[in-house]
Amino acid sequence: MIYLLNKTSSIAVKTPFGKTEEFSANNLVKQGTIHGPVFCCSSLSSYPEFCNKHGMGIKINNIQIPPLSFVDDIISIHNNEIDAIKTNACAEVFQNRKRLLFNVKKCKIITMNTETDFNIQINNDNIEHVKSAKYLGHLISDSNGISLLIYEREKAGRSTFSELIATVEVIISSHSNLYIQALLKLFHTVLIPRIIHNCGVWGRITNNDLQKLNICVNSGLKRILKVPVSTPNCSIYLELKILPIKYHIMKSKLLYLKTVLSSDIQIIRDMLIIQCQLISQNKNCWLKDMFSNLYDLNLYHTLLEIKSITSSAWKTLIIEKINQKAFTELNDELRSKKKLHQLSYDYKTWQVQEYFSKYSSFISSIVFKTRTKMLPITDNFSSSYGSQSDCPKCKNSIDTQEHFFKCSEYSSPEIDDNLFYHMTTETNIHANHIIQRLEERNNKH
Ligand SMILES: [Zn+2]
Repeated sequence: MIYLLNKTSSIAVKTPFGKTEEFSANNLVKQGTIHGPVFCCSSLSSYPEFCNKHGMGIKINNIQIPPLSFVDDIISIHNNEIDAIKTNACAEVFQNRKRLLFNVKKCKIITMNTETDFNIQINNDNIEHVKSAKYLGHLISDSNGISLLIYEREKAGRSTFSELIATVEVIISSHSNLYIQALLKLFHTVLIPRIIHNCGVWGRITNNDLQKLNICVNSGLKRILKVPVSTPNCSIYLELKILPIKYHIMKSKLLYLKTVLSSDIQIIRDMLIIQCQLISQNKNCWLKDMFSNLYDLNLYHTLLEIKSITSSAWKTLIIEKINQKAFTELNDELRSKKKLHQLSYDYKTWQVQEYFSKYSSFISSIVFKTRTKMLPITDNFSSSYGSQSDCPKCKNSIDTQEHFFKCSEYSSPEIDDNLFYHMTTETNIHANHIIQRLEERNNKH
């Protein structure tokens, strides 16, 4: 009777726009029905317990870490070949008990920090040795670092940017004032999580790896804004209120620290004890990286203090501190740029500039270029062109952005560059004057 109940079912999927049309499915297991556990005997959740009982896994500072499993994904770490063979034997016993077969093609061996040559078999087939493999979205490699993972994330980031830009362009004209806004929203909700997913468990990221992620994000943002590659990155972060990637990573790590400290799961508590022991032996470990992140933000809490703070209060504190630090750092960087240090405006508060939502992406790009001195005027690119040159219109003055706005040889009216700081309806008109002047300038050449 129950078997027949599971035989066919009409299914409709709930979506944010209502339910889809019903369709029928055969031979499915309804969640919570008496057949569920029998049909789904492929679940391996009792495997770690089974291994733990037989002392399998790895021992670090007297704490036993059994193999981990998530539904049907298992990972097991060992100090030596013998232990690996023992755990494998355990797996074979376990599969016989569960009456299932592990597929040798889905089993992999990674050897770290050693060159031993050995074979392990499952169901009489040799398991393949690989340099890297994925476990729950985390790429584990034999080099024991995260460089390979970063390389993969960087590639994913680049293709995500192209995907997002192509998708938005189908729906929204690139001239609409929604274009940049939509892409920014997707940048925060899709791109950033895709790049830093799981970064709470990463060890310290090297400058080289961080640089790779920065280049990926910066070049993508420049594509969205349609500005030259040489545009200073700090000005993009300041104008759009975007946190540099290192702060996104820092934020995720410190929020994850709170999750670990509040966890009731024994193995997580044990791991924390190991980390504390490693740190007292002055070894580089995950916890040490956490403390250096805290010091960077001038936070001197003990682990017990962090544990006693509520999660929401901790989150608020971390976000506030990170925003403060990033804002100061970006402003300092901006002032250190020879070209930008004497901008007629200064960033007092950090917010997405109003013009991105007010004007078309075309005008927004012109306003952005004006504010960051990226208009195609010789002086703005003096570091790449080298020598200074004269205004192509009047030939009486050096070709600077200031002069370009005030030069009387153009037929379009003069431009008040202060307007680009104080957002007024006139900003739009003046941006159009810039476009006119640029066209006139190009015709002159
Ligand atoms: Zn001139």
